[in-house]
Amino acid sequence: MKLYEYEAKSIFSSYGIPIPSGQEVTTPSQAKEVAEELGGKVVLKAQILVGGRGKAGGIKFAENPEQAEKVAEELFSLSIKGLPVETLLVEEMLEIKRELYLGLTIDRGRGQSVLMMSSEGGVDIEEVAERDPEKIVTYHLNPLQRFYPFQAREILQRLGFHGKLINPLSQILLKLSRVFQERDAEIAEINPLVLTPEGVIAADAKLIVDDDALFRQKAFQVQEEDLPYVELEGHVGCIVNGAGLAMSTMDTLKELGGEPANFLDIGGGASAEVMEMALKRVVLHSGVKVILINILGGITRCDEIAKGILKVLGDMEVPVVVRLRGTNEEEGLKLLSDAGVNVESSMIKAAQSAIALGREGSD
Ligand code: GDP
Ligand code: MN
Repeated sequence: MKLYEYEAKSIFSSYGIPIPSGQEVTTPSQAKEVAEELGGKVVLKAQILVGGRGKAGGIKFAENPEQAEKVAEELFSLSIKGLPVETLLVEEMLEIKRELYLGLTIDRGRGQSVLMMSSEGGVDIEEVAERDPEKIVTYHLNPLQRFYPFQAREILQRLGFHGKLINPLSQILLKLSRVFQERDAEIAEINPLVLTPEGVIAADAKLIVDDDALFRQKAFQVQEEDLPYVELEGHVGCIVNGAGLAMSTMDTLKELGGEPANFLDIGGGASAEVMEMALKRVVLHSGVKVILINILGGITRCDEIAKGILKVLGDMEVPVVVRLRGTNEEEGLKLLSDAGVNVESSMIKAAQSAIALGREGSD
C-alpha cells in the first residue's frame, strides 16, 4: 500500500520527525485559505502516487494567497503520468540551504533492512549512485537489535557531518527507522531532507507498507477514522473513551507511580471493529509494556468493546487490563472473564494492576 505524501508526513510527524506546516486541500479556494493561514508564500504539491512529480510539473510555488488559488486551479486541471490531481498539499515555503537523501528499504538479497543516506538529495538517488557513489552511505540493520544512536552518528560522520547537525539528524535517522520497522514498510524515504535556518525538515515523504502486513496494520485505519491519538514517554498504553476519561485515567496512573506510553480515545459509540483497531494502534508504540483499557459505557456498549478486545487478544504480546462500566456491562464482563482477561472493577485497581504487570514486562 502506497501512502500519499500528506499521509506519510502525518505518520512521520507522529514519530517526531519535523515536517513543514501545511494542509491538504481539494479545491482552489481552500488552497487560498490555507495559504492565508501560512502567511502567503507557499508550495503547492500534487498528491499523486507516482515518482518524479516535481519534474512532471506537479510542484508549484506561490508568493501570495491569490496566486496560490490560481496555481491550485492549474494543478487541479493537470493529469500527471495519466493520474488526475484530486488533492494538493499546501505547505509553507521553506528556505532550503541544502538537500539530503534518507531512505530505508529491504535488501532482499541479504534479507536485511538497509538504510541509505546521501549528502546529495532532491534528485534521483540512482543518479547519485552512478555519478558519485562515495556520496552515499549504505548501512545494513541487524534485525535482532534495535538501531542505536551510535550507529546513526557513525553514518553521519561517514558522510562528513559534524557539530550541531549531528543531533537533529541522528534523531531523524532513529525515528525514520522506527517508522520503517513498526509500520512494516517496504520503503520509508525522505527526499529531500532539508537543512533550513529553522532546522532539519522532511520536505518530502514516501511510505510504502508491505501489503502482506496490512492485517496487522489496522492501525492505519485509526488515522482514517480520525481518532485522537497521542504518544508519551511511559510504559502503559491507554485506551479510553472521551477526553475527560483520558485525563483522569492518566492522572490516576501518574498518581500511582505509573507513566502512560500513549493514549487513544475511541470516542462515543465505538464498535468492536474500532476497539480492535485501537488495540492494534496502541501496541505499535515500542514503549508499551501493558495496555489499560478504561471504558465508560453510555452510547458505547461494553459488550461491543469486549468483542473487539477478544478479536485481537491472541495477537497481543503485552498484558491487557480492562475496566468496563455502564451499558451492557454484565455481558461485556462475562465475555472477558470467560476468556481469562484481567478485569478490574475500579479505575484505581485497574491502574494499579496495569502498573504492576508493566513492571514485570520490562524486567
Ligand atoms: P518530488 O519531485 O515528487 O520528489 O517532490 P519533492 O517534494 O521532493 O520536491 C521536489 C523539489 O522541489 C525539492 O527537491 C526542492 O528542491 C523543491 N521544493 C519542495 N518544497 C520546497 C520548499 O518549500 N522550498 C523550496 N525552495 N523548494 C522546495
Ligand atoms: Mn522528492
